[in-house]
Amino acid sequence: MALFELPPFKHTLIDDIPSIVSRLRKTYSSQKTRPAEYRIRQLRQLYWAMVDNEKELLEALDRDLRKSTFETYAAEINFITNEIIFATQSLHQWMKDETPADIALMDKLLTPKIRKDPLGVVLITGPFNFPVHLSFSPMIGAIAAGNTVVLKPSEQCPNSAAVMQKIMETALDQDCYACVQGAVPETTALLDQHWDKIFFTGSARTARIVAQAAIKNLTPVALELGGRNPAIVSKHANIRLAARRLLWSKTMNAGQVCMSQNYILADRVVVPDLIQELRVAMKEFFPGGAKKSADFSRIVNINSFNRIKKMLDESSGKVVIGGALDAEELFIEPTVIEVTDPRDSVLVEESFGPLLPILPVDNLDHAISTANEIHETPLGIYAFGTLAETDKVLAGTRSGGASINDGLFHGIIPNLPFGGVGDSGSGSYRGRASFDCFTHRRSIIHTPSWMEPMLALRYPPFTNTTKLHRYNRMTLLKPDFDRNNNQKINIFWYLLTLGSGTAKSGAFRATMLAAVAFLLKRYTCGELRLRRIQ
Ligand code: NAD
Repeated sequence: MALFELPPFKHTLIDDIPSIVSRLRKTYSSQKTRPAEYRIRQLRQLYWAMVDNEKELLEALDRDLRKSTFETYAAEINFITNEIIFATQSLHQWMKDETPADIALMDKLLTPKIRKDPLGVVLITGPFNFPVHLSFSPMIGAIAAGNTVVLKPSEQCPNSAAVMQKIMETALDQDCYACVQGAVPETTALLDQHWDKIFFTGSARTARIVAQAAIKNLTPVALELGGRNPAIVSKHANIRLAARRLLWSKTMNAGQVCMSQNYILADRVVVPDLIQELRVAMKEFFPGGAKKSADFSRIVNINSFNRIKKMLDESSGKVVIGGALDAEELFIEPTVIEVTDPRDSVLVEESFGPLLPILPVDNLDHAISTANEIHETPLGIYAFGTLAETDKVLAGTRSGGASINDGLFHGIIPNLPFGGVGDSGSGSYRGRASFDCFTHRRSIIHTPSWMEPMLALRYPPFTNTTKLHRYNRMTLLKPDFDRNNNQKINIFWYLLTLGSGTAKSGAFRATMLAAVAFLLKRYTCGELRLRRIQ
């Protein structure tokens, strides 16, 4: 029997969707969400609703993914409550007008500034793997930035989605924030509406549908996609450390993590040691086996289970650790596969499950070129080796983010912007970046009336060439380079900066020189005085 009565998952009626969106648009136009105090109050109410529904969330995530209590607190509940606290404490600072740097002296008379306007009415759609975290985290940014929001959680985790709806309905102003439940038909109906931004987290396949729908109204999108991330292990890496960390990042949520490594490229001389250390780490993490462990999640549903099984069946690699599957329990054992073909199914497709393929490579260059061939722009890269080697990996590859000597850890550091590049996504969020993601930076100037005589030269007629001469004198920059790409030295600037390039470091050097001169003077005077006394 269930520990808790959870609220039922109910599809939103498709016919209701247009009126939900127009209600939110009407409220947005009323400027209700503009004051910082209003946004902070909503976020604080969300915080307490998270706390009040903690047990329901634990139960829901257990039912949806058999997520452990530790992972539910660490990666779902605590992540969100911390993010709310950080946002409420920082909001006044984030909302402040900014004075842009590098504005010419004359233009400063116009008091240029950047105001942080909300975008308007935004749609956020969540994925299934961290159903609370990856839906509420962008929503916190959208609320903080003053938008009204429709959230569509993943239907693949119906219990979590239902608890999230309950949380939103008890905590948040229903005229500003709505939870729409459903699958493809409901999302399609949502995408038919006009949005001021769509924030999508999920697969690249669905992202193409979302982007196509957005283009109709030229709606900006943030796409958080994923997968096919390489881990690279050099022959100088600490193999025990690499094995433990890569096993951790692939067994969290049973490998259903967009950031976890999809495959490992290991120098062939260390492959036997790496497999042995993975075996040791597996015993340490799951002493009675992963199936019996309360810390190992299940695959979200039978479709996903069959997809991962098919990848395994089609692989020509050799299973060296694990390999057990149980469809009834949706259980897939953490499985290490030694592969020889870089086009193997377990390498080129995103497993989004607990598969750890290892492809032996000849050296670091071979690893880098193989990773680039498989996927040029993964969400993450994980390099293990010396500093010179990991720097070489960073220089030779592209990715949304990277953890050096670790798996996926950069992706769970609060407030570190998180996002993809190329086909792993666009746009980033978390902490301040979430606020920026849902904010329009509106450039504003105020032209004082007393400037009219100075501005007269911008008005026609332009028959008199003196206007152009004066205009050029005021605005044209002189190149500090010649036609042969040589840097020209401005003798006045050189003297001012003491050759350091910037006035700031020039000033620093000048201060240091003055200090040395002062000390020398004191010292020599002191010496002289001493001699005189003697
Ligand atoms: P998904 O693309 O199947 O679903 C995501 C959302 O899109 C869901 O809300 C779903 O209802 C909706 N959707 C699905 N099909 C649709 C369609 N045809 N038309 C309109 N809407 C549709 O993704 P998922 O299975 O929930 O998540 C797994 C994928 O997400 C993996 O590829 C993973 O790498 C990626 N992911 C990325 C991140 C990230 O932050 N970069 C995080 C988690 C997951």
